[in-house]
Amino acid sequence: MPITRVAVVGAGTMGSGIAHVFAEHGWEVRLVDVVPGALDRAVATIRGNLDRQIKKGVASAEQRDAALARIRTATDLAAVGESDLVVEAAWESEKTKFRLFAELDRHAPAGSILASNTSSISITALAAQTARPDAVIGMHFMNPVPVMPLVEVIRGHATSDATVARVLDIARRLGKTPVEVGDYPGFVSNRVLMPMINEAIYCLMEGVAPAEAIDTVMKLGMNHPLGPLALADLIGLDVCLSILEVLHRGLGDDKYRPCPLLKRMVTAGQLGRKSGRGFYTYAA
Ligand code: NAD
Repeated sequence: MPITRVAVVGAGTMGSGIAHVFAEHGWEVRLVDVVPGALDRAVATIRGNLDRQIKKGVASAEQRDAALARIRTATDLAAVGESDLVVEAAWESEKTKFRLFAELDRHAPAGSILASNTSSISITALAAQTARPDAVIGMHFMNPVPVMPLVEVIRGHATSDATVARVLDIARRLGKTPVEVGDYPGFVSNRVLMPMINEAIYCLMEGVAPAEAIDTVMKLGMNHPLGPLALADLIGLDVCLSILEVLHRGLGDDKYRPCPLLKRMVTAGQLGRKSGRGFYTYAA
């Protein structure tokens, strides 16, 4: 029987996008967050993005209303209790995710899959918090989720072939292209991306060039659609810092050492788009 009920845990930048994509493909979605305001913001964001799709002519008002009607919000983790698949998209912190996976294992039905959207944390370590390591997997969507075609699928040490096959199938049914990778810090996407972003921040800190110039070099010179500093603002500077710390710790190589300017900006609460200010300033 195909999986049709999903719970998305964490309703921030990624959780809202993941809920959006599942709902528009006909899934019943439980969107769970510990912060009620985050749920209201997520639903407003999804509505806004669906409205944009209507303006572009790729969705109808009926499709928007049907997708929104499939999303139910909750602040209690027990709401995952009827889901065939749970996609965790909470903060990129080992402490948060370890605790969450132990709790999800208690609440999610036997036989359901526990997937994490983590950017860098070990799937094997998350699986070890549960009594179902064979059903724990990485399902790493890209930002913005409704637009980006890739899902990096990460097999943990104990992930079963059946779990991998189900998740590859789900990703395809969402219209995405899954790519299976191994469980090493940062997987492939962030192992390659984050050193570039970090180096761009060093260039800024050392006065090699201002932010706009660094981004222009990478856009016009390397054909990147977005410069690395604008991309860091989109991802969230706190998320970038957490990923670099995992790469630095996990691979033990100083080439992954987070730039001091990145640390200082995160300490100051300049987190990029979501806080209105990062390397650039954003209107509310
Ligand atoms: P975010 O800060 O925008 O949202 C995180 C949400 O999780 C918040 O709303 C928070 O209230 C909620 N949360 C925290 N603890 C919780 C708990 N115990 N139970 C339920 N909800 C909880 O973060 P984000 O950018 O959406 O990132 C989420 C995950 O996705 C992270 O693991 C991140 O590494 C990964 N990711 C992020 C990006 C990106 O570009 N931002 C891309 C791919 C993957």
